[in-house]
Amino acid sequence: MQEALTRKRAIDTELRHAFLANELVVYYQPVVDSRTATIVSLEALLRWRHPTRGMIRPGEFIPVAEETGMIIELGAWALRQACNDAKSWPSNVRVAVNIAPRQFQQKDLAEMVAQTLRESGLEPDRLELEITETTLMESDDVESKLREIEELGVRLSLDDFGTGYSSLGYLNRFPVKKVKIDRSFARQAIESPKTQAIVSAISALAQDLSIDLVAEGVETDAQLAFMASKNIFLIQGYLYTRPRPIEELRPLLAHWRDAPRLVSAA
Ligand code: C2E
Ligand code: MG
Ligand code: MG
Repeated sequence: MQEALTRKRAIDTELRHAFLANELVVYYQPVVDSRTATIVSLEALLRWRHPTRGMIRPGEFIPVAEETGMIIELGAWALRQACNDAKSWPSNVRVAVNIAPRQFQQKDLAEMVAQTLRESGLEPDRLELEITETTLMESDDVESKLREIEELGVRLSLDDFGTGYSSLGYLNRFPVKKVKIDRSFARQAIESPKTQAIVSAISALAQDLSIDLVAEGVETDAQLAFMASKNIFLIQGYLYTRPRPIEELRPLLAHWRDAPRLVSAA
């Protein structure tokens, strides 16, 4: 335990320094409509460009930032960055930003979002905020905060669906416009009839509720075809591309089909 604590403190100190030293960057990963080969949105995903350890993925530092509360500052920064970037994209391409459960403890979360939109000049309906079931379960007065955000015209997505309680009640109670099926489903879909049945059920439900459905973590043509067979056409995954710096994606925003398949590591 002592070791874990020491490690966390070290990451915390280093992360604060990294933030001030501009070592944090926002990468983007497209969600592609597989029917038209067009990018419908880009998800902002943080990276830490560490001077000696190379590119560090958020799994290594976001949990620490959540524990220490630094995610509030980091999250606000990522949102600002994403809105500023998205302002110059074609107007049919949305930007999606992850919001950690801890950020919902901020009293003025909706006001922070509103101010960021005003400052960037981005239309509210081009912003999607990705939340997880943990947020819906843990935070007090989350419902009123979500309503405030919805009233701004911002869209809410439920991320990693299927990993938590997957309570269908949430879809009814909260103003969610989009559900992202966790990537474990794409991984298991080909071999597991049970997974296939669950994806079918989620798809039918989403259709009835008029909720958009995204399949995360699609890596192979077989997985893409499976999702299509279940009427799931919004696809995010390495099959199209890994998360990348925006400069590399900008030329593809108008039309994906002309793009070479991007496969290099990120
Ligand atoms: P997420 O929001 O579910 O983002 C999707 C993750 O799946 C990304 O991992 C992405 O690189 C990965 N992924 C996409 N397609 C594939 C695929 O085909 N195969 C595999 N194996 N993985 C795929 P990443 O970038 O490491 O981010 C991990 C998590 O960190 C995110 O999961 C999100 O929860 C969190 N995160 C990232 N940026 C932020 C941020 O700005 N704020 C907050 N609060 N959390 C963030
Ligand atoms: Mg996400
Ligand atoms: Mg996810």
